[in-house]
Amino acid sequence: LLDLLALHQASALHKPRPANAAAPAVERDEIAAGLKKGEFVPYFQPKVEMDSGRVVGVEALVRWNHPHRGLLAPGAFLAAVESHGLMDHLTWIVLSQSAAIGQTWHQRGLALTLSVNLSLSSLGRVELAERIVEVVSKHGFPLSSMILEVTESAAMQAVGPSLENLTRLRLRGFGLSIDDYGTGYSALQQLTRVPFTELKIDQSFVRTAVQHETTRIVVESSLDIARKLKLKSTAEGIETPQQWEMLKAMGCDIAQGYLIAKPMPAEALPDWVARWHPGSLKRRTSSAPEV
Ligand code: C2E
Ligand code: MG
Ligand code: MG
Ligand code: MG
Repeated sequence: LLDLLALHQASALHKPRPANAAAPAVERDEIAAGLKKGEFVPYFQPKVEMDSGRVVGVEALVRWNHPHRGLLAPGAFLAAVESHGLMDHLTWIVLSQSAAIGQTWHQRGLALTLSVNLSLSSLGRVELAERIVEVVSKHGFPLSSMILEVTESAAMQAVGPSLENLTRLRLRGFGLSIDDYGTGYSALQQLTRVPFTELKIDQSFVRTAVQHETTRIVVESSLDIARKLKLKSTAEGIETPQQWEMLKAMGCDIAQGYLIAKPMPAEALPDWVARWHPGSLKRRTSSAPEV
């Protein structure tokens, strides 16, 4: 009975937090105007290779620089963007701005991979692959340095045109990442159909793995699948030295989370990378044995 209770509590912890539970409805006109005025900008969160401590890439995470409400995170507006049919527009803005910024970094010798999130609604569009190739090439950003992230639940629903798009993008050199892994019902079949290159363990698992053995086993098996399928594994939402240590010991390749850095504006990134070294983590994690 106690086991069942623990399991029940753990599964409650794994439920993704409601993204926009308290968010006020956002009018279509307001979003459309913001898109036009350039109020939507990508922030960038570093990804660090756990073995070497090297910064290997960044994930672009959109923010809305709202004229009255201040800087908004996706939880406050993404569902509205989607329901008003404006997701494609947002995707192009994020892709294009990220590629432009990523290219300036590459020119400065900062050859980071750039991860961009794709929504399910964009995935099935005909000519999506061609348009992405076009937008990214326009800025001279190397296609093989861009990773397209698709959530597990979106990947699960990928059929026909979406599968074709993903395969085409992979053939052009893009990396493909399965995001929020473990929160869908079962992506195992899609793992055999979509040529993924990366698996991102959802932060709900990272959050509970240290205290909860069942979660730990799920994470270990996910990392095992990633290894055997030759996918890079990334743990998102690493906040504590304990989580870093555990994921590293389990053989996870890459870490992303507030312990390393929060998403930041493009201008801040090169300085942050220059100041970063594995030791910075060690200093911050003085309670941990070895990093
Ligand atoms: P995601 O792709 O799984 O991104 C990770 C989220 O976790 C980001 O939230 C990031 O800020 C947050 N995060 C990273 N490390 C930590 C940590 O240590 N602790 C905690 N508590 N959170 C952490 P964010 O930026 O609010 O984005 C939420 C979601 O919105 C993303 O989840 C992604 O699914 C979606 N999203 C963000 N940008 C875009 C975009 O440009 N296009 C689309 N379609 N979706 C986007
Ligand atoms: Mg993501
Ligand atoms: Mg994720
Ligand atoms: Mg997530």
